[in-house]
Amino acid sequence: MLEPNINSQTINNNLSNNIYLQALNSARSGIIITDNQQPDNPIIYCNTAFENITGYSHNEIIGHNCRFLQSQDRSQPARQIIKDAVKNGEECVLEIRNYKKNGSLFWNELTISPVKDIDGTVTHFIGVQNDITDRKRHENEMREEKASVEKKIVERTKELHDNEAFLSSIIQTVRESLLVLDADYKVLSANTHFLNSFKVTTEDTIGKILFELGNHQWDIEALKVLLTKILPTNNPVIDFEVEHDFPYIGKKIMLVNAYRVEFEGQYKDRILIAIEDITDKKEVDRRKDDFLSIASHELKTPLTTIKGFIQLLERMVPKDSSEKFVSTLGKVSIYVDRLNNLISELLDTSKIQSGNIEIHKDPFDIDKLVHDTVENLALATPEYKISINSDTKAIILGDELQISQVITNLVSNAIKYSPGTDKVDVYCNRVGNFVKVSITDYGMGISQQDQTKIFERFFRARDIQKKFPGMGIGLYICHEIIANHNGTLWVESEIGAGSTFNFTLPIMQS
Ligand code: ADP
Repeated sequence: MLEPNINSQTINNNLSNNIYLQALNSARSGIIITDNQQPDNPIIYCNTAFENITGYSHNEIIGHNCRFLQSQDRSQPARQIIKDAVKNGEECVLEIRNYKKNGSLFWNELTISPVKDIDGTVTHFIGVQNDITDRKRHENEMREEKASVEKKIVERTKELHDNEAFLSSIIQTVRESLLVLDADYKVLSANTHFLNSFKVTTEDTIGKILFELGNHQWDIEALKVLLTKILPTNNPVIDFEVEHDFPYIGKKIMLVNAYRVEFEGQYKDRILIAIEDITDKKEVDRRKDDFLSIASHELKTPLTTIKGFIQLLERMVPKDSSEKFVSTLGKVSIYVDRLNNLISELLDTSKIQSGNIEIHKDPFDIDKLVHDTVENLALATPEYKISINSDTKAIILGDELQISQVITNLVSNAIKYSPGTDKVDVYCNRVGNFVKVSITDYGMGISQQDQTKIFERFFRARDIQKKFPGMGIGLYICHEIIANHNGTLWVESEIGAGSTFNFTLPIMQS
């Protein structure tokens, strides 16, 4: 136990009591007493905890002013607080950087209390210290972590804002009208293209129910059914064509794509609508169709006359004509027929486009039709072995000529697009209430990507364009004919391995 070097009588009396001393020494806080009445306020008592905290021994401490604990670290603001408290004889609590005997820093949580005599003169100060280095470090770490988290939040928020601004600039730039609706079809945002195209203002649009926009001009029954009935079943609306007469901007044909956000989160159930104005494109298409129809008509008339004259010439060939003359005439006749077929195909397409194609439906024997049509083609291409397997005994109610045209087209394609092979298989069988006709070749095949497009008008696979003549309308006509007979036409194919074109037709029930 430490024997205090005590000058003051009052303290001496108190501390001489063993029990008190023991109590002070058992405290975990460092405790010192300074004598304010001696020059430079020296320490006259320190407990064991103070020795432990600072690393100095009792003898090294007694007689010093407390400032020795600050070592060279003299510019801390906390010093001024101590000075003021000592000068004014007041209590103070503060945190200060102090240094142990071995020079290591410790944070000291210091409470200084004045001791006054009956006249109110400050005779002593009691200093209570706690080493709060760990707490400080912890606080520091927490502060740093908080600062780093806050920094990250600021960065992330900025990133989100940037992304949002970027996305919104994309949305504003696209040349398609875009709308975002909430689950109740209320417009949350509309891009500039929408506002400009439909001649509406932001105020007229945002916050309004889509179907009530601009005097109910968007109250389009077909669109309403799609958005309210189809979309909620998680089916996106893809390329739905809507035609509508708008009060201010007139008739518009639009392609609508709509998608409902299904992923969980703040955007769930929002509806995104993209509207493409295809009015002009449709008009251009219509003009092209008109041109096709007129041109093919105009070409067909003189060609029919030419064909007539050729037939006349063929009948009038003089007996002594040269072989060359006869074969030339024959070739002219073949090429006129080819030209005639091409023009007929063009005419057919324009008729399909305008919905003017006529179907003359009569019952016919599909097996006979398949055999007759394919055998005719086989005669013209003896180098190909065309196998025919058709024994369905089914009767079809349809336009025999048109179905024959489909088979001719598919078999001709099978031959045309399989150079270097010599085999085509035609197979017809019953599938439920339908007959299924399949034409298989072992030729070049069609890429997956092209398979989705070959039934479109004027589509031709890119790599064959130059090698094989054609206009890309045969399959389109076939597709439309089969659809008009309530059947389907599709292809299964693999590049390099060949293709199978299949179509179905409903069997006529007796
Ligand atoms: P065309 O033969 O005049 O080009 P079609 O409409 O009959 O027009 O065919 C469209 C395209 O489909 C062809 O250009 C060709 O690329 C592809 N195609 C059709 N049939 C076959 C086939 N059996 N094998 C490979 N490609 C085919």
